[in-house]
Amino acid sequence: MTLIRPDLDTLPAYVPGRAIPGAIKLASNEVCLPPTAPVLAAIAEAAATGNRYPDLAVTGLTARLAGFLGVDAERIAIGCGSVTLCQQLVQATCLEPSDEVLFAWRSFEAYPIVTQIGGATIRTVALDADFRHDVDAMAAAVTPHTRLVIVCSPNNPTGTVVTRDEMERLLAAVGPDVLVALDEAYYEYVNDPAAVDGMTLLDAHPNLVVLRTFSKAYRLAALRVGYAVGSPEVVTALRKVCSPFSVSSLAQAGAIAALDNAADLLPSCAEVLTERIRVRDALLSAGYTVPPTQSNFVWLALGDQTAAFSAHCLDNKVIVRPFASDGVRVTVSAPEENDAFLAAAQSYGD
Ligand SMILES: *Cc1c(COP(=O)(O)O)cnc(C)c1O
Repeated sequence: MTLIRPDLDTLPAYVPGRAIPGAIKLASNEVCLPPTAPVLAAIAEAAATGNRYPDLAVTGLTARLAGFLGVDAERIAIGCGSVTLCQQLVQATCLEPSDEVLFAWRSFEAYPIVTQIGGATIRTVALDADFRHDVDAMAAAVTPHTRLVIVCSPNNPTGTVVTRDEMERLLAAVGPDVLVALDEAYYEYVNDPAAVDGMTLLDAHPNLVVLRTFSKAYRLAALRVGYAVGSPEVVTALRKVCSPFSVSSLAQAGAIAALDNAADLLPSCAEVLTERIRVRDALLSAGYTVPPTQSNFVWLALGDQTAAFSAHCLDNKVIVRPFASDGVRVTVSAPEENDAFLAAAQSYGD
């Protein structure tokens, strides 16, 4: 007998982005600017009633999002970050150890973790040679055991998108009895007209659920709030498996204020759209392999150079995010921060 279930020994540990005083942090895809003043004021106001439990049903934020997205409130589930919503999706779909969660790899680190915690089986399908989801291989990997398919577009950590055509092909192949989650954490950074926009596919596909977050473009990573949009059946299930009061009053108030302040917050995304082209072009000129990105980060396919490159960046006071011996993900930030990273990348190997 062991105190703790033995499979946890093999659980892939989530590696948080490192914080080192004085260093530029490009490891977690955050926006480097703080929340705007009206958002901070709303959070402070909510803090004044910090002695009270939050609204369990997250009524105000759900209604505000319903208006913002143009969907019924019964189709929105709010969660303690979209990572927690991923975990809730596993809990809502998988019961037997043979139940499978299917996703591309390499993709978001949280997917294998929440799958294993949920006691389900991990099934992965390799990205293609262009670091993109191979939706046909994913469709072929669906078995009678598949309960949940997670698609990440833009994909973390490679920045590539799934197109609308590819997503429709995948949904058609998967059929209506398997839940398909489309993780759009970087939705606000997408400007490729061919990229999928999950909201536009929801009406035709009751088995589709779209995940979005306030952690990136809306600058509220510390508050932990994200949302899922799907059919009332799926949303009801997500609400059932949500741990009570997990979305704090500060998160609820901050997210509403962030939506109210979108006009002030989102221009920093527009700057990223131009910076990511500049950063990628400079890296390509320096000889790196970098897929086109539709997000606020770039992927450097460094293979066995990954650890050495990441250590070199750290020596230059730039924190990047290494992934085993696959590559390094680097947040595209403000121009000065990007310049510091590019200087490090250009001096690597000198
Ligand atoms: C950052 C990110 C999220 C956001 O997670 P939160 O829990 O909402 O902070 C979700 N999915 C992916 C792929 C991400 O990169």
